[in-house]
Amino acid sequence: MHFYDRLRETLEGLRRGACLRALPSTPKGLVNLSSNDYLGLLEDEALRESFYAQLHGEARLLSAASSRLLTGSTEEARLLETELARAYGTEAALVFGSGYHANTGILQAVAGPKTLVLADKLIHASMIDGIRLAGCDYVRFRHNDLGHARVLLERRAADYDEVMLMTESVFSMDGDRTDLKALTALKADFPNLLLYLDEAHGVGVFGPNGLGCAEAEGVLGDIDILVGTLGKALSSTGAYVVCRADLRDILVNRMRPFIFTTALPPVNLAWTRFVLAALPAMAARRERLQSMGRRLADAVRAKGVPCASASQIVPWTVGPNDAAVAAAAAFRSAGFYVLPIRPPTVPEGTARLRFSLTAALTEADFGRLLEVLEAQ
Ligand SMILES: *Cc1c(COP(=O)(O)O)cnc(C)c1O
Repeated sequence: MHFYDRLRETLEGLRRGACLRALPSTPKGLVNLSSNDYLGLLEDEALRESFYAQLHGEARLLSAASSRLLTGSTEEARLLETELARAYGTEAALVFGSGYHANTGILQAVAGPKTLVLADKLIHASMIDGIRLAGCDYVRFRHNDLGHARVLLERRAADYDEVMLMTESVFSMDGDRTDLKALTALKADFPNLLLYLDEAHGVGVFGPNGLGCAEAEGVLGDIDILVGTLGKALSSTGAYVVCRADLRDILVNRMRPFIFTTALPPVNLAWTRFVLAALPAMAARRERLQSMGRRLADAVRAKGVPCASASQIVPWTVGPNDAAVAAAAAFRSAGFYVLPIRPPTVPEGTARLRFSLTAALTEADFGRLLEVLEAQ
């Protein structure tokens, strides 16, 4: 078939299945329940202005103009890494252009010929791509089923030098959380087990200092590769890993999405440092966010719809794609911007509205949200 005919046919198929995506423009005048600005920092003008007021010198630069291994290892990058390692109590930290860079590159850099990957069924696409690029043997365990992970470890772990278990602390589509105490306890029974934890939706939101779920559950010392992203609750851009010093040095030498890309601009790194320093004092925002999450999940369950959420992300599963699109339109006309999530992002037949709460939400708007949901 002719190239462009094939593209048109593919698009037609997506349209017929109500799966065609287009880039939505940012909503104006609607309450935004679709962003990852969990702490409401993006909308915090006072915080932003106090950042700009103290910004000086090299930290004002808008580009790093080269990769980290050339001249992009700016003072801001080095300071941020030192501060991250100190905050987490790890030997080292390394900053990346994005969470996508981190997850597509880390595994390939550290995996050996006898590494087995054991991954949760619902891990983020960036980790799936990372596993594909690394080319190691891998098995998936049923979503959030550590009993199943244990069975697979019993069956396979002894055949490999090491097993890298990859999962997330807060899952982005269901808002459910991994039992990190049970996860880290697996290490006692499987000495060659390593843990790779993606905290993209946990950082900023959980933990006494906002460092994520591993901090909240007191298991930081048992996570070998902890990936955090900076573009969500921290309202900046980029990502990081906190880990042992040797692991960081291997990444600097081997990780392609770290080496072959321009470093983050100093101004963004300076903003990340500014937010990171302010994070411990944001406990009230975190508590309010958790409380809204619990109330919204209860409201979904009150409709007779199962909801696994234990976080600021709360799905309302409606099933068919067109029902999700219609529900999103109803919320939109009530003043809320919430997007329908459809396959292939979520499994077939589980199209949903995904409420992504933010501490910037007023009590009045939150009350109205509960009313609209109830009326649907
Ligand atoms: C958003 C996200 C990423 C990607 O992070 P970016 O910095 O946006 O590239 C990785 N993992 C998970 C679980 C995410 O939700």
